[in-house]
Amino acid sequence: MSRITPPLPSSTRSRNMAAIRSRGNRSTEVRLRMLLVRSGVRGWTMHSGEVLGSPDFYFPAKGLVVFVDGCFWHGCTRCTHRRIRTNRHYWVPKLRRNVARDRRVTARLRRCGMSVLRLRECVLRNHAAHCVARIQRAGIRRVTSSRKALPSGEDG
Ligand SMILES: [Zn+2]
Repeated sequence: MSRITPPLPSSTRSRNMAAIRSRGNRSTEVRLRMLLVRSGVRGWTMHSGEVLGSPDFYFPAKGLVVFVDGCFWHGCTRCTHRRIRTNRHYWVPKLRRNVARDRRVTARLRRCGMSVLRLRECVLRNHAAHCVARIQRAGIRRVTSSRKALPSGEDG
């Protein structure tokens, strides 16, 4: 299904790609957004800049963040390596750094008591209903307890 060819690391391309990456994979994100609306899932905002890593979807009441990870940029092992045919010496370490950064962000968010879901482009494409179900199940229990655990007067 995938028609994406690996981009060349020219400076213009890199800038464009950096912009795309900072927003995740746009079409995948739009797809998930439609699915959530259609499934009646509420209580989320998109691209919350106040949360570390600017997650694609943030559910404040559940303490849940959802990242929609484009397969190429986030080094999906199932999809990416097949695609990189040129400039491997450039792309392989770059994508590895992206993966490492994703892990750091996830770990930090979890330490803050957040539930973190990372949904891959390919999984979302092939198992959309499953992804929505995971979002619906995720994140409910923790928030109330961690909020209660905050000493009063310590907010902000
Ligand atoms: Zn993939």
